[in-house]
Amino acid sequence: MSKPLLTADPHAGFLAHADEIRAAVDRVLAGGRYILGPEVEAFEREFAAYHGGGHAVGVANGTEALALALQAVGVKAGDGVVTVANSASATAAAIQEIGAQPVFVEIEDDAMLMSPAALEAVLAAQKGKVKAVVPVQLYGLPAAMPAILALARRHGVKVVEDCAQAHGATLDGRKAGTWGDAAAYSFYPTKNLGALGDGGAVFTRDAAVAEQLRLLRQYGWRQRYVSEIPGRNSRLDELQAAILRVKLKYLDAENATRRTLAARYLKILAGAPLQLPVIPPGTEPVWHQFAVRTPRRDDLQAYLAAREIHCGVLYPMPIHRQPAYAVPALSLPVTERACAEVLCLPVHPALASGDIDRVGEEILRWSRS
Ligand SMILES: *Cc1c(COP(=O)(O)O)cnc(C)c1O
Repeated sequence: MSKPLLTADPHAGFLAHADEIRAAVDRVLAGGRYILGPEVEAFEREFAAYHGGGHAVGVANGTEALALALQAVGVKAGDGVVTVANSASATAAAIQEIGAQPVFVEIEDDAMLMSPAALEAVLAAQKGKVKAVVPVQLYGLPAAMPAILALARRHGVKVVEDCAQAHGATLDGRKAGTWGDAAAYSFYPTKNLGALGDGGAVFTRDAAVAEQLRLLRQYGWRQRYVSEIPGRNSRLDELQAAILRVKLKYLDAENATRRTLAARYLKILAGAPLQLPVIPPGTEPVWHQFAVRTPRRDDLQAYLAAREIHCGVLYPMPIHRQPAYAVPALSLPVTERACAEVLCLPVHPALASGDIDRVGEEILRWSRS
């Protein structure tokens, strides 16, 4: 039996930098600061610099990053927040966590990203109720940010990017995360920039938003033991920050590896009876996932799994159909079809081109079976 191939491989991501990561962990253990210390500060500086300047605020995870970013840009309980339904349920959970209401809009059929036309219709229909929009930069592809920003500005609505899958992606030469009023990142171990535990951050160019985030993430404290506003505990710890500093140095190189692997898939699968990923013009994706589509998705997934090729389905059930967030009256046919057809092939930096060839050959064999 050949080596199992996984959609993501955080262990391989650790092994690739094991010596440096162990040294970083030792440094923290010996340093004696374990929460919000020099490693978090240094990581925040380095992650902000990665965006060409601005402010990064480390938080507990990606869900918290979204919730706190929405709060920091002024979203309040009862406000509507527009997002898509083909995302991690975390996107909706973050909106609900602060008492706001998710409003799901349709996606575009090609890249499966937020449809600006659908956004425009919802903003017009729900005038005044919607206070923010959360485009999800899904699979490593930025959504149509110029159009989304123009609509948001016209309607006086804030934009918080969900960048949990798009560390380093660009659109028109500009990084994901730098378009909106704030951007939420997850460093869950499987993400392109992954910690070895939970972690998250918010990036913003707005110093006032960053200041608000620093209060919100730690009990509303500016001064220790004095809560200036109601806050919570959502801190990034020193160990994860030190690990993330190592991983950040390799992010661009690892994204480049993902691009090479994705290009190989695109070439091998060019004639296969599958919908291959569509890359909107001007986009440099970072291939968090390589998402193909076929109405025979379950069959292909089982065929590959039987050959030790383990694919992911992001996401099998749209959020507006999940029991916790169900909106029975809402129909989003393009989203629903995407969720029924999508299959995410293994694409992570520990794979070799031979692994991609193996997946490609098995898919071609499946298509002839
Ligand atoms: C991973 C992910 C999140 C949640 O991040 P956590 O760190 O797991 O809380 C949110 N949105 C998207 C699109 C994600 O992929």
